[in-house]
Amino acid sequence: MLLEINSLSVKYGRIPALEDFSMEIKRGEIATVLGANGAGKSTLLKAILGMEKASHGKVVWEGENVTNWSPSRRIKDGLALVPEGRRILIAQTIEENLLLGAYQRDDVDAIRHEMETIYDRFPNLCERRHMQASCLSGGEQQMLAIGRALLSKPDLLMLDEPSLGLSPLFVKQLFKLLRDLNKGGLTILLVEQNTDQALALANTGYVLERGKLIISDGAQKLANDPRLHEAYLGVA
Ligand code: ATP
Repeated sequence: MLLEINSLSVKYGRIPALEDFSMEIKRGEIATVLGANGAGKSTLLKAILGMEKASHGKVVWEGENVTNWSPSRRIKDGLALVPEGRRILIAQTIEENLLLGAYQRDDVDAIRHEMETIYDRFPNLCERRHMQASCLSGGEQQMLAIGRALLSKPDLLMLDEPSLGLSPLFVKQLFKLLRDLNKGGLTILLVEQNTDQALALANTGYVLERGKLIISDGAQKLANDPRLHEAYLGVA
């Protein structure tokens, strides 16, 4: 098992945002976490990376309890997050943004090689590598955010609503990219509002409602589960 989450809870002050959540992700798998706004999806990803503190429960990474590790230590050990809203530094160049992903690495030749691979994948970024990131469209910024995360050489790539605000063409490109990256061996944890496409891509799905896990199942079975739609309507 690559990642195990055991009974994880996170509180903001006294308010619980995530309660007693458990999941397991095998190497090579794609898992998706679904749920309405405010269900606790971002909180879960932040807690896995260590940006939010667990009030209860454990995060076990490659068999090791990392619950008290700092985010940078977890990133160095193979976890990466493409945050909601991308968090691109728009006044910096595209290349500078990409290099931020490699901030804990010193294998300069390998970084250079991986940059070229990313530029091959995203020619739009390559052409404008020395321009400010502000020149990019929303979809291109999302690709930059993914490229930046890839430069930390992750074993698990977590993405928080990457399709939000993108045109249908970019959404299609995004899902194709995730499929390709997974074929190349990358394990993926995807938080999405785009339920149909996320379940079509994933092996397993989890549905959160008001901080609680209400369904976990194979993605295909979940796609036909009426409780999924009830969760979005808030009547489950
Ligand atoms: P969205 O799709 O809107 O991002 P989400 O499923 O990712 O929703 P979270 O952002 O994890 O949900 O939020 C879960 C709950 O915790 C919500 O009620 C939210 O208002 C609350 N919350 C999130 N971040 C904070 C914070 N920093 N301080 C206090 N409450 C927070």
